[in-house]
Amino acid sequence: CGIVGYVGAREAREVVIEGLRRLEYRGYDSAGVAVVDTAAGAIASDKRAGKLANLEKALAESPLPASSTGIGHTRWATHGAPNDVNAHPHLGGSGRVALIHNGIIENFARLRDELEAEGHHFASETDTEVAAHLLDRAVVAGADLTTAMQEVSRRLEGAFTLVAIDAQDPARVVASRRNSPLVVGLGEGENFLASDVAAFIPYTREALELDQDQVVTITAEDVSVTNFDGTPAEGKPYHVTWDLSA
Ligand code: GLU
Repeated sequence: CGIVGYVGAREAREVVIEGLRRLEYRGYDSAGVAVVDTAAGAIASDKRAGKLANLEKALAESPLPASSTGIGHTRWATHGAPNDVNAHPHLGGSGRVALIHNGIIENFARLRDELEAEGHHFASETDTEVAAHLLDRAVVAGADLTTAMQEVSRRLEGAFTLVAIDAQDPARVVASRRNSPLVVGLGEGENFLASDVAAFIPYTREALELDQDQVVTITAEDVSVTNFDGTPAEGKPYHVTWDLSA
């Protein structure tokens, strides 16, 4: 339902929660956040059914580590009950990759069978978790997160915005889009990803619109866009003019 990604000098966990708060008006049943714990070389995440306030309460008791790199999600369940386990982010087999998803992966059952036959264990009932396992499998096999996202996107049917981070590559956040909203917020020494500009409007009004079937990689300094086959593409820059008072 709501998607936020961040990389830059601010505290990622704070930017992500603030972004989710700005997307709350859309409605949701659960919320979650993940950051790269750079010192540990691991993903740190928390996710809770119910209002963002539930997640914030849990994070106040057990805070996520400081990080430059994070993602957050508010879920509107389509596959699997709205509970803590089915909330996003989802992790793949090795725990290196955390992924959030808006939309529906139509061919998830077939992909899940394939992955289970290879020995992958699934924690949730979501359609989303297959994408986390596929992405994790690709980076463990040696692909960088961007290439892995292109590969995985080519295998998915349906409508999706996916955003992922890799514990071993904290400099980037990678996203993919097919028939589902995704915009890039362009900052100075920081960049943003979101399902809606509302998530990053306090920080920047410079945005980049993507086409369908594109993958975008953000670092603190750069944004690069490709098609699902890896060929370079360009986003369309625009200035967000609407009033913040809402
Ligand atoms: N289909 C996914 C799920 O049920 C994502 C739902 C959403 O767009 O929030 O977990």
